[in-house]
Amino acid sequence: MAIPPDMTDTPDFASLVLEHTTDAILLTDPHDGVVWVNAGFERMYGFTLADFSGKIPEALLNTDDTDPEVIRQVLEALRERRPLQVEVQNMRKSGDLLWVEKKLMPLFDKDGRHIFNMSVSRDISERKALERSAADMMETESHRQHERRLLSQISEWLYSAKSLEELLMVVKKSMQTLLPEAEGQLYIYSNTRDTLELAAQWGDITPPAQMGAEDCWALRRGRAYSFGTKAIEFACAHTHDDQSPYFCLPIIAHGETIGLLHLCFSAFDRSIVPREFIETFMQQRWEIGLLCAEQISLAVANVQLRHELLDQSVRDPLTNLWNRRWFLDAAQKELLRARGQKLPVSLISLDVDHFKKFNDQYGHDAGDVVLREFGALLATTFIDGWSPCRIGGEEFVVLCAGIDHDEAVHRAGDFLEAVTRIELNHGGTRLPRITASAGVASFPEDGDQVLRLMKVADEALYGAKEQGRARVLSSRENIARKVD
Ligand code: GH3
Ligand code: MG
Ligand code: MG
Repeated sequence: MAIPPDMTDTPDFASLVLEHTTDAILLTDPHDGVVWVNAGFERMYGFTLADFSGKIPEALLNTDDTDPEVIRQVLEALRERRPLQVEVQNMRKSGDLLWVEKKLMPLFDKDGRHIFNMSVSRDISERKALERSAADMMETESHRQHERRLLSQISEWLYSAKSLEELLMVVKKSMQTLLPEAEGQLYIYSNTRDTLELAAQWGDITPPAQMGAEDCWALRRGRAYSFGTKAIEFACAHTHDDQSPYFCLPIIAHGETIGLLHLCFSAFDRSIVPREFIETFMQQRWEIGLLCAEQISLAVANVQLRHELLDQSVRDPLTNLWNRRWFLDAAQKELLRARGQKLPVSLISLDVDHFKKFNDQYGHDAGDVVLREFGALLATTFIDGWSPCRIGGEEFVVLCAGIDHDEAVHRAGDFLEAVTRIELNHGGTRLPRITASAGVASFPEDGDQVLRLMKVADEALYGAKEQGRARVLSSRENIARKVD
């Protein structure tokens, strides 16, 4: 490069460069005593040569966060008098931290004697910050991808659930895997819809077995509720404390709220964990919580639909009692169980007396009213193990699991009496009183096959009809009657 003509003396290029370079240069003697620093060093670190009097450089520049492995490498290179390049975290005089790329170089005189070590440090804090945020982003992204993968596996499992019990088992396991920090509960509205009942729970909390919709801000306000991070907020009455942050996520199927997913993070106690930390954590979990609630909602709707369809195929639409199909299947299973456990099973076959006359005199609709009321009385009389079914026009059967012959006969008699007390009106007309007849057959004495037992019970029923109707006849009495 040409020297400007007005410069009389050759400038000291070395001094110019040392003065203006942004790199921090430090020279030490072989015993680690600092002998010189450049202006760039003073600007970068804030330390002057005087600050190092009696101190080795590392004593001032390193921090508790400085990687011990890097320190070890530096000391080794100095000892072995060989060059080294490292990235290391240092501290300025102000206490601020900075990242530097540090080059260490031993300097020798012309006779080859080791006289100094030179260290050149370049500030790479910005690059490090970028690298760190890129790594954070990648970690978040990979965590998110992992969550998505889990969620899609979970939704497959949720969709394969055939019953609510199976579904609840999948929900429990899935939530523990996907959100291990959360204790949780799934509440489902009771049939009467006045309370929500605990259907599943996971984690250490002992939640209430029931709750009212008015106990929950999410259900009252009709949208998902996050508690624990806002300046003004109120804890739901169904939660066990007001220090743990939580989500309340309504479960909605076919546009109707059918339950509540409650996710509580009690490890993040607000009296201990800093608010900013809880805020970030809750924000990160909010989206996945909502996705879970959505998946669970769809799965519950799916199970309900399945259940409805199944129910339709085994229910009689007029009386809502079990139909013939259900009866045959259930009776078969019951007999199988009874054979194994040596338990009795009885069948009560029932038939409305002179039913045709209701149809003939008051119309088919009046006949339907009789069947509905008769069915309703069956449903309220025979509960818990006594399964009433409508198997044909005005023919009914009660499957009595674990009930012996005498008890079935006795209960059938009581029922027939109750039938006579039914009062019916149709189209403003008082209908005549109903009576019905019944026949009873039992396993094991009358047979061990469903069709055989039905036949014996029907024969007893016909016997009852023959004897004047409005009565119950046991299979034994029927056989005795025939012998006479
Ligand atoms: P019994 O005392 O001998 O049993 O006489 P019954 O009149 O009850 O018996 P029957 O078998 O002669 O008549 C049954 C009638 O039930 C015939 C059929 O039209 C009627 N029925 C069958 N299913 C229904 C239904 O779903 N609704 C109505 N209204 N009638 C029905
Ligand atoms: Mg009849
Ligand atoms: Mg009949």
